[in-house]
Amino acid sequence: MTIGILGGGQLGYMLALAGYPLDLHFRFLDPSPQAPVGRIAPRVTAEYTDFEALDKFAHGLALVTYEFENVPVEAARHLAQKLPVYPPPLALETAQDRLSEKSLFQKLGIPTTEFVAINSAAEMDAAIGKLGLPCVLKTRRLGYDGKGQWLLRSGEDVEALHKDFPATPLILEKFVRFQRELSILAVRGRSGKTAFYPLVENHHRGGILRLSLAPAPRLSDALQREAESAARRILEALDYVGVLAVELFECGGHLLTNEIAPRVHNSGHWTMDACVVSQFEQHVRAVAGWPLGDPGRHSDVVMTNLLGDEAENWRNLAREPHAGLHLYGKAECRPGRKMGHINRLTPRQG
Ligand code: AMP
Repeated sequence: MTIGILGGGQLGYMLALAGYPLDLHFRFLDPSPQAPVGRIAPRVTAEYTDFEALDKFAHGLALVTYEFENVPVEAARHLAQKLPVYPPPLALETAQDRLSEKSLFQKLGIPTTEFVAINSAAEMDAAIGKLGLPCVLKTRRLGYDGKGQWLLRSGEDVEALHKDFPATPLILEKFVRFQRELSILAVRGRSGKTAFYPLVENHHRGGILRLSLAPAPRLSDALQREAESAARRILEALDYVGVLAVELFECGGHLLTNEIAPRVHNSGHWTMDACVVSQFEQHVRAVAGWPLGDPGRHSDVVMTNLLGDEAENWRNLAREPHAGLHLYGKAECRPGRKMGHINRLTPRQG
């Protein structure tokens, strides 16, 4: 069986590496001729909206999945006319727009930050009147790693924004005074079966994920159940197949759902060394129609991203005991770019 993957970055790379031991084959489509997957699998270099290239890419594939959430929905829908596309294009479409994402949470009764859709500075002022300061203004689309966001603490911040108001659909959210940021990796198979990894605690630096602690320290069964219940409702509502990441804020002992990623996720990289079945293998199993794997872990772990030139320290990192080192082989190193990660294992507690 050959699986097509849209997007050829490190997530696609690790999906293929996880699928090879299961005798699955892969083909990629990515606009960049430098995509890391070129080393390990055949690849079509083309824009996602080049339908002719998509057809060539799809020829002989059993199904298509994606590793990049900004794949244009038209590409996924075009392919879905010919062969199965998992997760379904509806999941991609929902996750690409913060308004549809948060509206889905609301519809499903999943607690989320208070929000208002905004299209102009006047609408922002009215929404601030409703939500109060501080609040966070975000572009509805294409924001990542804290880009396309403005924290509004005071009248001066609001005034400054008035002078250069972003000409794009926006969402205004109430600022959440959370205790910590968590995420859960969930998976749903083609038969509808679900499985969940434990909640992890995430730490960011400059808007970029730095560390994931797995499982999240002081994790209660009640909190885990709350996260699983939110994730399960989203999986079912979207008739989802594959791995889904749900990002959450812990606030007063409960969870607010912030956003979803319809793909394998950086905060799940710890599963590569601490679980028998990693998030990557789970995703491949789910989309291929295999039985899901056991999401249990044999170790506790701290996953640290290697950003920019930190990966150049690979020789020392490779000497560490009980640590799994992963380097993505990207051609160019830039400050803050994810170049690899290391999973430092400790014996499982609890
Ligand atoms: P996002 O792109 O929604 O994941 O936001 C990026 C980061 O900004 C999050 O990881 C939080 O640290 C912070 N953040 C986002 N939304 C809020 C909010 N409503 N209140 C407080 N902090 C937020």
